[in-house]
Amino acid sequence: MRDLLAPESVRTRRFTTVFADVVEAAGYQQIVTPLLEDLDVFARIGDATDVVTKEMYDFVDKGDRHVALRPEFTASVCRAFVEHRPTLPWKVWYSGPNFRYEKPQRGRYRQFDQVGIEVLGVDDPHLDVEVITLGWDFYRRLGLRQVTLLLNSLGEPGDRARYVDALRTHFEAVGTALSEQSRATLARNPLRVLDSKRGEDVEFIASAPTIDAFWSPTAATHFRSVCAGLEALGIRFEVNLKLVRGLDYYRGTTFEFVGGTLDSAQNALGGGGRYDGLVESLGGPPTAGIGFALGVDRTLIACADEGVFAAPDMSVDAFVVDTTGGTQALIVTNQLRAAGIAADRAYDNRSMKAQMKAANRSGAAFAVIIGDDELAAGTVSIRPMRTGTVEGSEQFAVAGNELITNLQTLLKEVPTS
Ligand code: AMP
Repeated sequence: MRDLLAPESVRTRRFTTVFADVVEAAGYQQIVTPLLEDLDVFARIGDATDVVTKEMYDFVDKGDRHVALRPEFTASVCRAFVEHRPTLPWKVWYSGPNFRYEKPQRGRYRQFDQVGIEVLGVDDPHLDVEVITLGWDFYRRLGLRQVTLLLNSLGEPGDRARYVDALRTHFEAVGTALSEQSRATLARNPLRVLDSKRGEDVEFIASAPTIDAFWSPTAATHFRSVCAGLEALGIRFEVNLKLVRGLDYYRGTTFEFVGGTLDSAQNALGGGGRYDGLVESLGGPPTAGIGFALGVDRTLIACADEGVFAAPDMSVDAFVVDTTGGTQALIVTNQLRAAGIAADRAYDNRSMKAQMKAANRSGAAFAVIIGDDELAAGTVSIRPMRTGTVEGSEQFAVAGNELITNLQTLLKEVPTS
C-alpha cells in the first residue's frame, strides 16, 4: 500500500474528474458504497476465484460479524441495488480504493483505485456497445493511443457450463505436461487455465476448444449485434475467444482494455462484461447487469509511458512577500484568496532575499511585495516571475486597493509554466 504525494495525487484526482465528466455526460450517476461489507457480499464473486479464496482482507469485527474490505465494486453495487430498488435502468459510476492481498509489483498493489460504471436492468446489446464505448472514449480523452480492445462472449449460463466441461476434458487429457500451477487451477476453475502465461501451457491453450462452438443462438446473435454496433461507431476491436475474466459471475459479453506499454502480466488496464445473475444471487429479482472497472494506477502508468496526461501545473498565481513584519502578508494573502487568486506566502518574517527565493521556488506567476516604502505609500509592488517583465518593467507599484484588479488582468495574459 502506497502513499500518493503530489503530483501523483493530483493526477489521480484529475483522472477521476475526467472520468466523471465522460460518464455523467452519458447519464450515469455517482454511487458511493462502504469500504467494508459483509464477507457474504463479496463471496458471491465466486468460490473459485483467487479474489475470494486468497486475496480478501477479511476479519471478524467487534460485533462478531465476518466482514471484508472491498476487493471490487460490482458486488457492492448489486447489493446496493437489492437494498434500495431504484428505478430501472439504473446507471451508476464509482471511484475509490479496493483491497486485494496480492504480490505487489509495478502495476499490482494491495490497495489500488478503480473507476467504473454499472448498468442494471437492460438486456439490449446496444447497451453493451454504449458501455464499451464510454471506456474507449475515456482512454481517448486521457490521450492514450496504444490501447487494444479485446472482445468475447461467455455465452448464456448453460453455454458456459458446457464449455467449462469441454475445457476440463481437454486439459485433463494433457495430464502432467500441463504446468503444476495450471493443474491446480484446473481442479478449481478450468476457465482460468486459459489465463496462464506459462511456457509449458501455451500449446495446450492454443489447441483448447473455443467458446463460440458452445454459444446458443441467442448468445451468438447478441454477440454479433455488439460487434456490429462497435463497427458502426468506428471502434476497433479484436475478438479473442479465449478471453476470460478473473471473476466468476461474468456471462455473455466480456471485454478487456489492454495497454501497449506494460508487462504482459500487468497490461490489462480495465475490463468488464455482463453479469446477468449476480443480483439474483444477492437476493434480488432476475436483473440484467453490465459494467466495467478500470484500474487507475495501471492506467496512469500507461499514460506516463505514452507521455500523455501529465501532472498539471500546481503553482499558485501569486506569492506574497512582506518585510514589514507579516501583518500585511496575512491580510493581502487572505484578500487574494477571497478574490479567487491562488496565493501563498512566506512565514517567519525572513529577509527579502529569503522570501524572494521562496517566491521563486513556488513557481508563482507574480510576487506581490510589501516593503517599508510600499507600506508608507499605501502601495504594493508586483514582480512578474515567469515572464521577467511586463511592458518592460521588472517590478511596478500599484495602489493597494487596485492590486486585485491588476493581478486579474495580468493573470489573463501570463503563460502557464
Ligand atoms: P478486475 O476487477 O480484476 O477485473 O480488474 C479491473 C482492473 O483493475 C484491472 O484491469 C487492473 O487495471 C486493475 N487492478 C486489478 N487488481 C489490481 C491490483 N492489485 N493493483 C492494481 N490494479 C489492479
